[in-house]
Amino acid sequence: MTKYYKLFIGGNWVDAVSGETFESINPANGSVNGVIAKGSTIDVDLAVKAARKAFESGPWKEMAPSDRGRLLYKVAQALWEKAEKLAEIESRDNGVTINENKFIAMPAMIDVLEFYAGLANKVQGETLASPSNRLNFTLKEPLGVIGAIVPWNFPLMLSMWKIAPALAAGNTIVIKSSELTPISILEMAKIFQEAGVPDGVINIVSGYGADAGNALASHPDIDKIAFTGSTTTGKLVMQAASQNLKPVSLELGGKNPNIIFNDAHIENAVNGSMLGIYMAQGQVCASGSRLYVQEGIYDKFMDVFTNKAKQIRVGDPLDPAMQMGPQVSLPQLERIEHLVAAGLEEGANVVLGGERSDDKGFFYSPTILVNVTTEMQIAREEIFGPVLSVIRFKDEDDVIQKANDTLYGLTAGVWTENIKRAHKMVRGLKAGTIYVNTMSMLDSAAPFGGFKQSGFGRELGIEAMNMYTQTKHVWMEMSETHLDWYGM
Ligand code: NAD
Repeated sequence: MTKYYKLFIGGNWVDAVSGETFESINPANGSVNGVIAKGSTIDVDLAVKAARKAFESGPWKEMAPSDRGRLLYKVAQALWEKAEKLAEIESRDNGVTINENKFIAMPAMIDVLEFYAGLANKVQGETLASPSNRLNFTLKEPLGVIGAIVPWNFPLMLSMWKIAPALAAGNTIVIKSSELTPISILEMAKIFQEAGVPDGVINIVSGYGADAGNALASHPDIDKIAFTGSTTTGKLVMQAASQNLKPVSLELGGKNPNIIFNDAHIENAVNGSMLGIYMAQGQVCASGSRLYVQEGIYDKFMDVFTNKAKQIRVGDPLDPAMQMGPQVSLPQLERIEHLVAAGLEEGANVVLGGERSDDKGFFYSPTILVNVTTEMQIAREEIFGPVLSVIRFKDEDDVIQKANDTLYGLTAGVWTENIKRAHKMVRGLKAGTIYVNTMSMLDSAAPFGGFKQSGFGRELGIEAMNMYTQTKHVWMEMSETHLDWYGM
């Protein structure tokens, strides 16, 4: 029987006020994973009220920071125990392979919680220079109620990037999950509740973007919005958030260059570039989707790369032998088809793939397009699929110019054995993360975020704590003398 999932508001599992529901579909075969209560404006409002109550009068922000950290660490331990089950739920919901979810996404997600659990008691203000009769210091205080809106590609991991620093700093949170992947986040909320995190500290409203998402972004009682998703939606979220001038952090799209120089270690560069574009079927904001190959190594590199890409096993994401699963949805699959067709029309050529690979699910073959130029749509727009656009280049200056000729600036990859060249590229490329002789790495301690229209603000690392705290400055007179205002 299909399982029914309620909303999680103020520690209670509730139906949507409207009574409406929606289905979560398995993109590998079209079966129904679950029926979900469909939250809308009124449910978002109830969740914000619950989060506000928990923030203002609950024990969370008053708790000793070490105790808060300890409780979050307890949640992390419980998540390790459930990690395999959560990985399966996500693979069923979004089609990312079980190996990627089990060995990459879940461990990375829990590591983030452990990292911020450890930071809960390390939030520090400063004592500033002042005369001896005064105290002049800053306090770092939580912001209040955080609104988080997350996408479907790594639902738990990208939620945790927001939940962990927000809660460690003493905030409460309302999360609007993606309508395509609502289940794992609800299962995670149960784990927070069972571990003893107080009611209302974490609230989950499943629902659609234009409705529940917009209601959260525009809500007057939300103190900050943390958004991950497309650049187009990011602009709408920012507009909605401007209504009460709440701060916004945006983790948006990417069209990331991955650059192979003549002197690259060819095997490492091939393997890294494969991971860069085909991991999670290319549905990764950091994916290296524009491949720049220097003229001298072009033929050899493309030969090895294409032969390896031909061997990728595409199929049931729950089968551990598979390397790629389906795209998340039919609209996403059709968007890929549309962009590939536009590329061919503009003069690109397919050397691999370029078509659906199964008619039951939303599968698309690993694809390589060559003879791509920087002006083509396939070189400019984020495809968010397993489609690599390959472009030749001459030298460092040529490729820096081409790589930076984009609206985006999330990541960039460079493959070279020459350290001076690597350094020049690191300085020249406009992106929030540069990979040198590696790809797609993440670390809970390393700030992640974009330049240009890939967004602003940095998630992860100590830096992200600044997005979930505000600075209060205090002047404190410690002597009996009163202020002397022109002798009065
Ligand atoms: P999306 O923008 O369509 O949706 C993201 C979230 O926003 C969903 O929860 C959706 O329901 C909600 N939403 C949609 N319209 C809204 C509105 N008007 N107001 C408020 N919320 C709204 O993105 P997606 O298709 O779910 O995810 C793919 C995109 O996310 C890609 O562009 C990808 O690059 C980006 N992404 C970025 C990062 C990063 O860290 N930079 C990470 C993962 C994904």
